[in-house]
Amino acid sequence: MKKHYLLTPGPTPIPLEVALKEALPIFHHRTNEFVTIYKDIAEGLKYVFQTKNEVYTVASSGTGAMEIAVTNLLSLGDEIMVASCGNFGDRWIKIAEGYGVKVISVLVKWGKVVKPADIERVLKVNPNIKAVYVTLTETSTGVVNDIKVIGEIVSKTNAVLVVDAVSGLVGQEFRTDDWKVDVVISGSQKGLMLAPGLAFIVLSDKAWALAESSKIPKFYFDIKKYKKSYGVNETPFTPPVTLILALQESLRLIKERGLENMWNDYKLLAKAARAGMKALGLKLFGEAPCNVVTVACVPVEIGCRIVKILREKYGVSIADGQGDLKGKIIRFAHMGYIGKVDLLVGFACLEMVFAELGVNIEKGKAVAAVEEELLKA
Ligand code: PMP
Repeated sequence: MKKHYLLTPGPTPIPLEVALKEALPIFHHRTNEFVTIYKDIAEGLKYVFQTKNEVYTVASSGTGAMEIAVTNLLSLGDEIMVASCGNFGDRWIKIAEGYGVKVISVLVKWGKVVKPADIERVLKVNPNIKAVYVTLTETSTGVVNDIKVIGEIVSKTNAVLVVDAVSGLVGQEFRTDDWKVDVVISGSQKGLMLAPGLAFIVLSDKAWALAESSKIPKFYFDIKKYKKSYGVNETPFTPPVTLILALQESLRLIKERGLENMWNDYKLLAKAARAGMKALGLKLFGEAPCNVVTVACVPVEIGCRIVKILREKYGVSIADGQGDLKGKIIRFAHMGYIGKVDLLVGFACLEMVFAELGVNIEKGKAVAAVEEELLKA
């Protein structure tokens, strides 16, 4: 028998209070009971997204919300900009091209961040660009983009700004309205501390104006259906009712702790994780490390084995690199329901795996470095 620790950048562990809601008996969704819950959730989501606009809940993984943000804003042949610095930024390109949208890609090397000045320059020479798609925290490389500055730039143009906050929401400071972001999408299985299965999307008035002229065919992901149902506190299709109950609970927990406190909690965990990696003798990957996942370079000879041994021998799951980074980096998450003690467990086990793999490390040094940072709080 082995105890499991989920320290992957999604899905994340979920609090017991939330898990228990998912175990409750199923109830019908066309009822007053559901309406009451849905009204409560509507307020909680506005708080978490820091917006006055409606946040729509869709039964889907995060990628479904990405697809909504493409198919509901655009028409065949429209031009958009995707500023990508990793795997999830690249996903915008794949979705848009799949729907016949013309993509102007602003690609930066994985590990770097998107340069706001590049977005400004490309928008100037391509005035027909209808939307700019970026990622808040790029989960594949662990960097955070400067959405506030990008929002300022895009808001001065006719284009709308679309942000993927699937991994960044709750873990990283993010303010939809104040930062002039038009469309934000996210998912349930990361910062929101829920099981996978829900996606979220919020649209500004500027984005709705674009949505009015969108001609890409759609049905289940037609956001107008969600807007109409939202008006009467319903969903257009059968919602995963127990996940919705669990969402109500996780939103309550977030409100109780306070969003700004949570941003600071993850900031501290990120600092401690970075100190732990350095104490293990590893170089951090990425030029602007985010607060939800810490990414470090590992020797290629042992890259893939670290993750495997950690999971199989100690029950600790962290993530390997994606794409060209496979075997070259490890990704240690501190998003969702992951706290200080999880960090200590993760680093203690990493030390044991490194020792087992013959890496010359001083046992206890990484754990001590993590403790040192945590004690500063
Ligand atoms: N964007 C980002 C930044 C992500 O981290 C992920 C999930 N790892 C996705 C999009 C896709 O979400 P999902 O797997 O829920 O479809």
